[in-house]
Amino acid sequence: MANGVLVLAELADGAPAPITAELVGAAQRLNAGPVSAMLIGSGVEGAAARITGVETVYVVDNPALAEYTNDAYTQAALSVARQADPAVILLGQTNTGRDLAPALAYKLNTAVAMDTIALEMKDGRLHATRPAYGGNARAVNSFAASPAVATVRPKSQDAVEGGAAGQLVKVDFAPGAVRSHVTARNVAASEGVRLEDADVVVTGGRGLGGPEGFQGIEELAHLMGGAVGASRAAADLGWRPVAEQVGLTGKVVSPTIYIAVAVSGASQHMAGCSGSKNIIAINKDPDANIFKAARFGIVGDYKTVLPALIAAVKKAKAEA
Ligand SMILES: Cc1cc2nc3c(=O)[nH]c(=O)nc-3n(C[C@H](O)[C@H](O)[C@H](O)COP(=O)(O)OP(=O)(O)OC[C@H]3O[C@@H](n4cnc5c(N)ncnc54)[C@H](O)[C@@H]3O)c2cc1C
Repeated sequence: MANGVLVLAELADGAPAPITAELVGAAQRLNAGPVSAMLIGSGVEGAAARITGVETVYVVDNPALAEYTNDAYTQAALSVARQADPAVILLGQTNTGRDLAPALAYKLNTAVAMDTIALEMKDGRLHATRPAYGGNARAVNSFAASPAVATVRPKSQDAVEGGAAGQLVKVDFAPGAVRSHVTARNVAASEGVRLEDADVVVTGGRGLGGPEGFQGIEELAHLMGGAVGASRAAADLGWRPVAEQVGLTGKVVSPTIYIAVAVSGASQHMAGCSGSKNIIAINKDPDANIFKAARFGIVGDYKTVLPALIAAVKKAKAEA
């Protein structure tokens, strides 16, 4: 009988990536039996001991897994899933997770819920909540099939802290046919903290009036150790690179603090930031949609409000 929760561990620079601890935290809170992790890659075994809060770490370590490919990773994950026989499998809504989860679910003859932001066990079934209609509604999916496979949006779950390392179990893996290969990887150049990982995001919109309006946005983001975001309107106008666009057709961010400056809060924009823990909006229009989602709102011209906010943050930092 399937039991427990299996999470896909991901690494960043050889150490568990933040999403790994977030998935383990989510898995523990499900109270659905033992929590285990699967670690897939080449030369990854050494990192297994750094995955904490799980009973078992299944390691598939093979040169054929040096680069992510859908074929090889699906085969590897399938081997682990068959051995662990979990009731629930959680992956991050990351480059790897969003590609791997549907393929794994298909091979397991089950269903997948993508980009979930809340998880709950009810009557022995996983109920997974995901944003729908561009973030304007939430859909709760329950699973009739087992195991339930879900991807979890980064930063939507509190990470597990500490805990013992799991018992290492090596899983045999014979690479079969690999029909896809990564031929090139183009990484958009960016300075400082990555938008998707940032704990603070300061986003500017069309209301800034031009690219020069982003100077204050950059300054505030830098002061708060955060990243700069842009609405699609600002990106389309060429004021900021497309890589900074937040929203339905841009990046999805879930920082602790999301400061939206001169952004109207269109549903397509909110689809990318509604998972933020605290939205702070600065807009001169008191009826702007962004205020509906904002925890704190400042009605006023950003040219007055932003310098005052920057001065207040500088003062607070100096006094800290
Ligand atoms: C299929 C599709 C996908 C889309 N995907 C995205 C997406 O991924 N991301 C995204 O952002 N949009 C997306 N959009 C576009 C979206 O619908 C909006 O057009 C866009 O988000 C508007 O950007 P904005 O808020 O910067 O501009 P506007 O809607 O023009 O809002 C500007 C705001 O600035 C305020 N303002 C003006 N001057 C000042 C001032 N001096 N001080 C303070 N406030 C001021 C105004 O009151 C206004 O609220 C998409 C649209 C479609 C159809």
